[in-house]
Amino acid sequence: ASIPTIKIIDAKNYVGQTVKIGVWLRQKRGSGKIAFLQLRDGTAFFQGVVVKANVSPEVFETAKELKQETSMYVTGEIHADDRSSFGYEMAVQDIQVIGESHDYPITPKEHGTEFLFDERHLYLRHLKPFATLRIRNTLIAATYEFFNNEGFIKLDAPLLTGSAPEGTTDLFETDYFDHQAYLSQTGQLYAEAGAMAFGKVFTFGPAFRAEKSKTRRHLTEFWMIEPEMAFMHQDESLELQERYVAFLIEKVLERNDQELDILKRDKELLRSYTKLPFPRVSYDDAIKLLQDNDFDVKWGVDFGSPEETFLANHFSKPVFITNFPKAIKAFYMKRDPKRDDIVISADLLAPEGYGEIIGGSERDTDYDYLKSRIEEQGLSMDDYGWYLDLRKYGSVPHSGFGLGLERMVTFVTGEDHIREAIPFPRMTHRLRP
Ligand code: ATP
Ligand code: MG
Ligand code: MG
Ligand code: MG
Repeated sequence: ASIPTIKIIDAKNYVGQTVKIGVWLRQKRGSGKIAFLQLRDGTAFFQGVVVKANVSPEVFETAKELKQETSMYVTGEIHADDRSSFGYEMAVQDIQVIGESHDYPITPKEHGTEFLFDERHLYLRHLKPFATLRIRNTLIAATYEFFNNEGFIKLDAPLLTGSAPEGTTDLFETDYFDHQAYLSQTGQLYAEAGAMAFGKVFTFGPAFRAEKSKTRRHLTEFWMIEPEMAFMHQDESLELQERYVAFLIEKVLERNDQELDILKRDKELLRSYTKLPFPRVSYDDAIKLLQDNDFDVKWGVDFGSPEETFLANHFSKPVFITNFPKAIKAFYMKRDPKRDDIVISADLLAPEGYGEIIGGSERDTDYDYLKSRIEEQGLSMDDYGWYLDLRKYGSVPHSGFGLGLERMVTFVTGEDHIREAIPFPRMTHRLRP
């Protein structure tokens, strides 16, 4: 019978059989009689054992000469192995080197973070990025599943745009023939047009913000999922948001056991975050709660990281802070009919210091009000006239929100810095690789 070529992750199905696997060498140790090869193939990590007495002299010599990140096919029998966390290993019979590797820069010794991110194109191959970015992939796949199940269609918003709905201070500008263009901060306004055409839509794409302050939570290029729902008020939107977040966590628990183990993420703690509903606390009450706990905050300020962390930890769960002051939120958010100083909005804050995961609101539907807000903010009617059309032709109550994918990744994986949550992070001081 011919030898099957498999992936490491499937080794459990081949115990006692001889198989062939395409791998890279992570590390190697051994003696004159035996070589232990730490191998990876992108699906999992395991060990290949080369015993001098059981292989040809050439194969043992090859094993001894292997360098970190050499690529090869290994052939051998799969055994159960209780000592390794993976549970299986290979008794290697044959090695066929494919690509040599010399002087690989990321050695088993400790390296500084800046160095690792200078070498990100190689660092991707290592344990932590492997686990984190596979979880990111689950979140992306689960997002499509969730919104497909809920009857949404994905609407692609442009990335080159003339509008700046989240404020003009953090824009990346670029020339667009004879015009000024910006890299999109959000797909929001386009999603609203989509909702009026398709009922329920979500955009999913990169967002660009020239964040000047250096924080653990801000990238200059990040990915955002922005659902927008026609005929939906804020209460129903909050229910959708919490079901979505719980669904994402459940899918990671279901599909990424290996990755959560690598990252040493507490699974029971994660599971506790899937119990709904999430608490809802008004901005007014949040301010009081903060003041009662010695925070120096006044009504009207936006929360910083210490306030967000305190609030979510106080409830040991993701928590919705609702009805923010109008003055600190985007122009399109719906005014509270009872109070002119607040808008029908909510931020979802994650516990353990992962910050704002979601920002959302009901949208104002009043043509004249929105027009005056746009003018007030010094935005041009040339760029926003089309948006106001949505209030002219069959406007309906509608709501939406934006979830930052990388914030969600850090929350689920337990990574403390957002640069870990994206393959090639873009930050103030980092444009390569
Ligand atoms: P923050 O208060 O953390 O700066 P924001 O209120 O400016 O966030 P929104 O405009 O509400 O952000 O964007 C929606 C979501 O996008 C946020 O809840 C967050 O998850 C994510 N997000 C915003 N800015 C960034 C960024 N610079 N890097 C990564 N994710 C971001
Ligand atoms: Mg911000
Ligand atoms: Mg915010
Ligand atoms: Mg926000």
